[in-house]
Amino acid sequence: MITIKSDREIDFMMQAGAIVWDTHQYLKSFLKPGITTKEIDDLAQDFILKAGATPSFKNLYGFPGSICISLNEEVVHGIPGNRKLKTGDIITLDIGACYKGYHGDSAWTYSIGKINSKKEKLLKETEESLYAGLNVIKSGVHVGDIGYAISKYAKQHHLGVVKELCGHGVGTEVHEDPDVPNYGTPGTGTILKEGMVIAVEPMLNYGTADIYMLEDGWTIITADGEPSAHFEHTIVVTKDGYTILTKR
Ligand code: MG
Ligand code: MG
Repeated sequence: MITIKSDREIDFMMQAGAIVWDTHQYLKSFLKPGITTKEIDDLAQDFILKAGATPSFKNLYGFPGSICISLNEEVVHGIPGNRKLKTGDIITLDIGACYKGYHGDSAWTYSIGKINSKKEKLLKETEESLYAGLNVIKSGVHVGDIGYAISKYAKQHHLGVVKELCGHGVGTEVHEDPDVPNYGTPGTGTILKEGMVIAVEPMLNYGTADIYMLEDGWTIITADGEPSAHFEHTIVVTKDGYTILTKR
């Protein structure tokens, strides 16, 4: 079921989104060689709790971390642990926060010190693909229009579009209907209406689109070992466009 959010609900979701944004800004300053992904996760949890929210992903489907932290060839759902960041790594922080019963969800990939040109291209263009997808959104467009815009951009830049994972509705659950794939055919799929809240989240690979899951049952990595990036915002659909909620 796809819900249309009331103004009051959107106000709560804006506050949840602002907490997600603030958590990203806070964690960014700690992303240096030597810190472990578990230490980053602990900082995230403390920050979200102090802001009066709870981490959306903690125990979601049994996930052990407060946020998902994925490095280099890891696409999504990396589990925080003892690994230390190194210069040249890229790191995706996928952060969800629940405030007064409503969620915000935003992932961003960051560089640790100087990264190679391959990773630089991947980060810049995956972020741009997010905006390519967002910029088609307004009341009346189809979900397929978003996916088409993202995959068209990715193809033009020779990046692999991960198809097994997709964006989604957001509300009192962090994952709601509809699915928002990063590929599609214009004019097909769910029609978006004013007041719907969705997360748009391209996951693009430098190499092929193929992925597989590690034995931990969570971490998804690229099949060819090439790096992967992930950029995500939660937005509300408006009459003529959209408003980003996971931002201040
Ligand atoms: Mg996310
Ligand atoms: Mg999401």
